Amino acid sequence: MTRTADGSAATRLVRPAVAAMAGYTPGEQSNAAGVVKLNTNENPYPASPRVMEAITAAAQDLRLYPNPSALSLRKAAGSVWGVDPQGIVVGNGSDELLTVLFRATLDAGQRVAYPVSTYSLYDTLAELQGVETVGVPYGENWEFPLAGLQDCDAKLFLICRPNAPSGTLPALTDVQRLVESRPDALVVVDEAYADFAAGNALGLVGSYPNLVVLRTLSKSYSLCGLRVGFALTTPDLAAQLHKVRDSYNLSAVAQAGGQAALLDQKHFADNREKILGSRIRLIAGMRERGYQVAESHTNFVLATKSGVAQRSVFEDLRDQGVLVRWFPSLPDSIRITVGTDAELDRFFAVLG
Ligand code: PMP
Repeated sequence: MTRTADGSAATRLVRPAVAAMAGYTPGEQSNAAGVVKLNTNENPYPASPRVMEAITAAAQDLRLYPNPSALSLRKAAGSVWGVDPQGIVVGNGSDELLTVLFRATLDAGQRVAYPVSTYSLYDTLAELQGVETVGVPYGENWEFPLAGLQDCDAKLFLICRPNAPSGTLPALTDVQRLVESRPDALVVVDEAYADFAAGNALGLVGSYPNLVVLRTLSKSYSLCGLRVGFALTTPDLAAQLHKVRDSYNLSAVAQAGGQAALLDQKHFADNREKILGSRIRLIAGMRERGYQVAESHTNFVLATKSGVAQRSVFEDLRDQGVLVRWFPSLPDSIRITVGTDAELDRFFAVLG
């Protein structure tokens, strides 16, 4: 096969939906010395030292396939979150579980609905699956658009709770109403940031056949690099989802490390306390500088200056080695991950 300048040979080899899509753009990664990285909501503190011990031990012998459903890890997660391990499906990060959920629930031409603005990967997965998206706008001050969602003829609903990039927490009763009013559709609550929030939906898991809660060790357990996510649901639905994922989707190393992280609840709680403390400081500092900041239930803060474009602020910060996030759909806002106090010192010094 010869290559053509416009890549048309390659686009003819893939499905039209794939050729047409842009693909997901992850936040910028940088290993450059001195860069303050507050753009992709990673935890600024290291994972539990027990994680390194566990993955080092697991890496001693990798001849055999890992446990296909990550049984020990599921048991640990079930005990920490108070859910039935039979209703847990693991994923290579919760991103993989989102892919599994799209593939499991949606045929071409069907609809997925979610309140917007939200996690942009949902759009990418819909394009890939060839399904229609219904983005129901959040109200003023990020009010949850319950009625608009209930009106959608969708097979799959995604609720990012707390929401990214706003950091806000829709009422649990609204989520429950959606689940109860649409028994024919699956409602997925993406709780990637819920460990930093004032509440979560864990108490509902197992009570509704059409509810899935997604969890990840990436943010609150400092393990973005290990790729460990969980879908929490009923054993019946879990059995269906297991059919869709790869049979050995979580490596032996990831299973061992994830389990060790979950079992070190003291390390987890100490890190979370530090982040919640720094979040107060970050919000106060942004408000002092004239930004509007909604209450944050996450390890990031969305700061807005209505009518004042923030792209140049984002670019100036980047030029001086401080990475934050700016979204074309929210031009008056920047999103800042809660870093260490030293990182926030640097951020505020550069922001001025
Ligand atoms: N959901 C949301 C809202 C996120 O922001 C992210 C991280 N970008 C994820 C899910 C996926 O996290 P992971 O795949 O690392 O578990």
